[in-house]
Amino acid sequence: MATFKKLDDLPDIAGKVVLVRVDFNLPMKDGQVTEDTRVRAAAPTILELSAKGAKVLLLAHFGRPKGAKDPSQSLSLVIGAVEKVLGKEVMFVPEVAGEIAKQAIGILNNGDIALLENTRFWPGEEKNDPAFVAAIAANADLYVNDAFSAAHRAHATTEGLAHILPAYAGRAMQAELEALQKALGNPEKPVAAVVGGAKVSTKLDVLKHLVARVDHLIIGGGMANTFLAARGVDVGKSLCEHDLTATADEILEAADKAGCTVHLPYDVVVSKEFAPNPPSLRTCNVHEVAADEMILDVGPAAVEALGDVLKTCKTLVWNGPMGAFETPPFDTATVALARTAAALTKEGSLISVAGGGDTVAALHHAGVADDFSYVSTAGGAFLEWMEGRELPGVKALEI
Ligand code: ADP
Ligand code: MG
Repeated sequence: MATFKKLDDLPDIAGKVVLVRVDFNLPMKDGQVTEDTRVRAAAPTILELSAKGAKVLLLAHFGRPKGAKDPSQSLSLVIGAVEKVLGKEVMFVPEVAGEIAKQAIGILNNGDIALLENTRFWPGEEKNDPAFVAAIAANADLYVNDAFSAAHRAHATTEGLAHILPAYAGRAMQAELEALQKALGNPEKPVAAVVGGAKVSTKLDVLKHLVARVDHLIIGGGMANTFLAARGVDVGKSLCEHDLTATADEILEAADKAGCTVHLPYDVVVSKEFAPNPPSLRTCNVHEVAADEMILDVGPAAVEALGDVLKTCKTLVWNGPMGAFETPPFDTATVALARTAAALTKEGSLISVAGGGDTVAALHHAGVADDFSYVSTAGGAFLEWMEGRELPGVKALEI
């Protein structure tokens, strides 16, 4: 992997103005922040810079104001939550550049922290407008990016600033890049990938990228149905993208050529209705699904066999649940396989990296999110990385 500068490489920053791009796009309900994970993720970087005497300016986007000021999407709404996590006072600055910002920054003491207004209030942010980038940079000495989850966007504060100020990866960015590098960049072999979730169509590029890189591709979730259909299995009423069976065949062929073993479920959990603990629930071989049944989870025999596959592997990368895990008992396969992966990780025989909105929720549901080597909450950026794409915000940090 190309290298990037970390906080360890910083010069003396006492008295310097450091712009820190964070992800404070926090979920809110009735004017209250409901979840502060993203603030906790950025806290080590912010506090480290503050402790080193920098004047820390936090940059973030919030919602989708589309280049115009909208008080209901002002970052001033999250300042209380940020102060609570940091345990320090944070000054709010209702601008990101210009005279008002300059004056506000002028009154900061060494170690002080300020949160600048929602970068997306200005059209120059999403356009990555050089004049907007220069105006923000004019008030600062250094740039730190700690928002991997925004790194798939080439915006002024996620990409542009890195080109005109000395640029560093924050601690959360560094941890994410190092974990992803271990999982797919330069992994210990054999490598397994678990890809699940609802639809093949949303993960075609992920599957195409993975078949050339992993030794075992475990396909579960709704998308397995399309692969089963491609192999001539009658999947009944299951969620299935019948128009993509030819594409599924191509992926299976590419895997074959690359020496990647594809694992599809051979037993499945089915029911006639999609409801919690439905009366028609049963487990059967994939060839025995009735015309009025749908596949909602991978079956127990397949899960056990998949656990044995993981036991032979050194590295695992996981995106997408194995079944409709929000509805019991269709969480069974996801929970069981996640627990196997977690146990192997704890034993030290597996490096496990997982990501994706529903995947993270499923790992928490299984009670093993903390036992994986790394769980990415980066959503879209994580998926783009799984597709093998270069993320502009990461690329711009490379030296
Ligand atoms: P992630 O957010 O981790 O990338 P996805 O959004 O791709 O994951 O997929 C998650 C969704 O897939 C879940 O809502 C889950 O209920 C659904 N799903 C998984 N298996 C099935 C299935 N067999 N039938 C219908 N939906 C499924
Ligand atoms: Mg999802």
